[in-house]
Amino acid sequence: MPVTLDRRDGCVMREGTIIVTGASRGIGAAIARDLDQRGCKVAGLSRGGTTAAGTGYACDMADEAAVRDAVARIAAAGPIIGLVNNAGVYSETRSAELTVAAFEQMMRVNVTAVLVGCREAYPHLVQAGGGLIVNIGSFYDRLGVSRALAYSATKAAVGAMTRCLAVEWARDNIRVLDVAPGYIETDMNREALKQDFMQAYIKRRIPLRRPGSAEEVARLVGMLFEADIGFLTGETIYLDGAHGINHQ
Ligand code: NDP
Repeated sequence: MPVTLDRRDGCVMREGTIIVTGASRGIGAAIARDLDQRGCKVAGLSRGGTTAAGTGYACDMADEAAVRDAVARIAAAGPIIGLVNNAGVYSETRSAELTVAAFEQMMRVNVTAVLVGCREAYPHLVQAGGGLIVNIGSFYDRLGVSRALAYSATKAAVGAMTRCLAVEWARDNIRVLDVAPGYIETDMNREALKQDFMQAYIKRRIPLRRPGSAEEVARLVGMLFEADIGFLTGETIYLDGAHGINHQ
């Protein structure tokens, strides 16, 4: 069994590497920085190999062999105790014009890559005596959003996969959670959020009257690793300023 290290706020952080996908920008970069500041060893994946903290690995998450290779290389450097499946893409299209190719491309990065990442990390997490997987979903997983059929379907799939893996891998002491953000200002939406109609929409529809920050998502993810709440698994945790439940 791995030893524990680094006490902060009374919590205990285990020794070992946490893999963060999409660690070059936005939410993934903030998660890599937060985990690094908590004393974790971070392996950050992105297509160019850039990471905001820890050691960077070049890996296109849409390429199954590349994911297998990256996880094997990280495992060769030491025990793996966690995985954050954050890499994701977003685009909008009228559903009547949505091509199978575009739908499947989004499924490939947002869903298939989550499966492959979890599957490849699994034997190493077992070897480490268990661990935590955090998938980054979205509050679109339970909403009806015009022109976002593909993205919403991918994020609903992330929730379903989180529940299935949590049940199947509980016996291995592997917990699986879905952190589902609302509007978070990043490269993915920065230009869209600046538009007047979006500013008005945010004030009207998000009870906290602002988008969230990547650092707020990162703090939740880092806290989940550090607090190590053993009975919490399979859940989707929404972080959206009450946007998704607002009926005003
Ligand atoms: P960004 O566009 O800012 O960053 C996306 C990250 O994913 C980059 O690091 C990028 O790395 C990486 N990435 C994209 N495609 C691939 C790929 N094929 N292989 C490897 N890495 C890839 O997005 P956000 O930070 O906003 O989003 C992060 C996650 O949060 C996504 O899963 C998104 O769906 C989710 N989310 C975001 C919300 C928001 O409002 N921003 C709301 C709800 C959920 P690189 O390009 O360097 O390869």
